[in-house]
Amino acid sequence: MTQKLDPASVKGFLSASEGQMLAKFAGVGQSMGALVEIGAWCGRSALYIASNFAETRQLLFSVDHHRGSEENQPDWEWFDPEVWDEKAGAIDTLPHFRRNIRHAGLESNVVAMVGDAASIGLNWHTPLGFLFLDGNHTMTTALADYRAWAGHVAKGGFLAIHDVFPDPADGGRPPFEVCQRAEKSGLFTRVDEVDSLVVLERL
Ligand code: MG
Repeated sequence: MTQKLDPASVKGFLSASEGQMLAKFAGVGQSMGALVEIGAWCGRSALYIASNFAETRQLLFSVDHHRGSEENQPDWEWFDPEVWDEKAGAIDTLPHFRRNIRHAGLESNVVAMVGDAASIGLNWHTPLGFLFLDGNHTMTTALADYRAWAGHVAKGGFLAIHDVFPDPADGGRPPFEVCQRAEKSGLFTRVDEVDSLVVLERL
């Protein structure tokens, strides 16, 4: 790993094992199409995925509205006052994201796409070699992100899903249900998993 900033030092919810698995499949997938992540937060996953991209022309498109999910809002379980923008009266993780990408030396490789992931996905037309779904975990949004983006994954490309908890006691169900939906579609098959990360290959 050549980068200047340890991804584990960046705010986020991804384990090192999960990050390394993402980097591995993004590395294989990059020959099959573009690389996209849904849900950027402060850049931890982008730093892992793009960890070998410095001094190459490889891009990662990182999609997020940067206003946080429900569970990140004030008075919720995962609220972090450091990402609160007083003037906007809203969460703003984009300055944190940009600073971390710059410190990692990856400004030429990680492209921030700021907006609603499902809306962007419906306007996207480039086949994907790697897609990482880690956005909002309400069923409505998780499903909308899946529907807008999964169809773009090229044959042989990878769909990675974070926060897949088979036991409801461990966490919310939508990513698990999206994963099940992908596997039952017959279009994807599970090729690897670690912690709460599942990686599927497009058949
Ligand atoms: Mg996550």
